[in-house]
Amino acid sequence: MAVEFIDLQSDLPGARQSLAVHRFGVPGARPLVYVQGALHADEIPGMAAARALADRLEALDRQGRVRGEIVVVPVANPIGLGQRIHGHAHGRFDLATGVNFNRGYAALTDRLAQRLEGRLGADEDANRALIREAMRLEIAVIEAVSATDRLKRTLLSLAAPADVVLDLHCDSEAVVHLYTLTPFADRIGTLGRLLGAQAILLAVESGDEPFDEAASRPWLELRDRFPGAAIPLGCFAVTVELRGQQDVDAATVAADADALVAFLVHEGAIEGALPDLPDGRCEPTPLAASEPLTASTSGIVMFHAAPGDRLEAGALVAVIVDPVTGAQTEVRCQSAGLLYARSAARFAVPGQRLGKVAGSAVTRSGKLLSP
Ligand SMILES: [Zn+2]
Repeated sequence: MAVEFIDLQSDLPGARQSLAVHRFGVPGARPLVYVQGALHADEIPGMAAARALADRLEALDRQGRVRGEIVVVPVANPIGLGQRIHGHAHGRFDLATGVNFNRGYAALTDRLAQRLEGRLGADEDANRALIREAMRLEIAVIEAVSATDRLKRTLLSLAAPADVVLDLHCDSEAVVHLYTLTPFADRIGTLGRLLGAQAILLAVESGDEPFDEAASRPWLELRDRFPGAAIPLGCFAVTVELRGQQDVDAATVAADADALVAFLVHEGAIEGALPDLPDGRCEPTPLAASEPLTASTSGIVMFHAAPGDRLEAGALVAVIVDPVTGAQTEVRCQSAGLLYARSAARFAVPGQRLGKVAGSAVTRSGKLLSP
């Protein structure tokens, strides 16, 4: 095991921050797995699971059981982690710009396609190597003006070469759910079963360039650009939502870390007998069919449904009570499905997101993720 501290040049004179990168196994060995926690810096379940995973990997590495190379960054966003206002953590958006730390990653496909024009053929392994090298070169020249830009470029440079990327997040109040690209519908099942995921959301493009797709989507898009070439989906990237922000306790964190180790055994990154797979708790559904529930008025939020509840179409999810008049406004879902996340806020303003239902009846287009 080796720990590397990558210097993140600060925007302020004399100030320094660094990114701690833990490396296990054999440098350069495959599969290369990249795991990061708390890119949204106030989402501590991901940080806790990454830390516990690193502890387990340290022991496995000593036993010589790490076959590939596994890179773990438990604190992916030291900039966001330092953002506190009057004692409250604000880790989702960069306070300097208002930009979400998990949006706005470089969309590399155009530049990769230019660089790879005429070079990709019938040899899948050769193409994989060419695409990885082109990604390395393109990421190195991504323009980065601010410290946050440099952090994003650094994180992407760590993830892009990997065969598997797990970006560990959480929602406000939620059950375990996963996001990945639609072509990984079959492959995501193992991770979903091990973590007990209750929703798996698929899209070919979620919109606004989240981190996981910056690493994985170029492969899919290069297939469209070069239909005659044998292009593998060289990076299986997943955004893992480990329940809600308050769901940090020793037993849950240990179970999540054990599930991640079991997944890495299944992926061939750790040597060992294949762990049993629990029964799946859901089938993947389109992210476009995830129904956002929003408040149409302001008031006190009284929930009538909790994360994990299976809802009928038209079910009552919440009542918003006007504290001045007493008027009550119902919030109902249109589609049948699983309420996989809801807001921890108990006072809403118009337009505020109150919950998300993984269904199959609604069809959205455009930008599919929460702001
Ligand atoms: Zn997040």
